Amino acid sequence: MNIQTILDYQALDFEKIKINRQLAKSEEYVRYTHATEAMKKSVDKVAKMSTRAEQLFAKVDMLIGQYEAACKEYDEIAGAAEGLDEDLKRAEFYEKSLETISAQLEQLEKEASAAAAELSALGKEGEAEINAANKSAAIAKSGKGKVDELKAQFAGQLEEISAKQKALEEAADPALLAVYRGARKQVKSFPVIVALRDGRLCGCGIELSGAELGKLKDGEPFVTCPTCGRLVYKPEQ
Ligand SMILES: [Zn+2]
Repeated sequence: MNIQTILDYQALDFEKIKINRQLAKSEEYVRYTHATEAMKKSVDKVAKMSTRAEQLFAKVDMLIGQYEAACKEYDEIAGAAEGLDEDLKRAEFYEKSLETISAQLEQLEKEASAAAAELSALGKEGEAEINAANKSAAIAKSGKGKVDELKAQFAGQLEEISAKQKALEEAADPALLAVYRGARKQVKSFPVIVALRDGRLCGCGIELSGAELGKLKDGEPFVTCPTCGRLVYKPEQ
């Protein structure tokens, strides 16, 4: 079975990879993607901070509610304790209750001031992060035109290659093309189809088993390397 069409198809895929790499390596593209990523990170951070701030506001509301309730209770007990000087035992009870509530109020004040301090820190951090996001956005915006230009330029070349591939798709064995496409999704490196090395090794250096080598001898176009997933073919001598 002739696999040359598939090898040609792969070569065109490689051309596309090289073009995309060229784009990815260009100074404008690198700066643009860095700025875009930085902006996204800042926006995420601000969103998290704002969630935390909402929690803190809710906590402060709750603390104020508890504080008011405790104050009310304190006033009631203090009021009831008035004029009880005679009854020492009862006065002692009221005093203990007032002490407990005072301690509670003190604790609530501490929690409220901690929440307030965190909110203030969040406010400052949030402001800095929003500034950072705006800065990144400005860099991304200023570079976008050039990146779009580069993309358009490369898109023309990519289209030309795709047109050539389309012609090969019509000529290729559909089953082989499907095997190649399946392997391309699996194999992370390129090329996906490799020639047998030294008559027995895969491109990854692994020795293929006798059974696999036998398949190639029997005329199978490729065998799949069990280690790396590449398609190995036997080049014609
Ligand atoms: Zn391999």
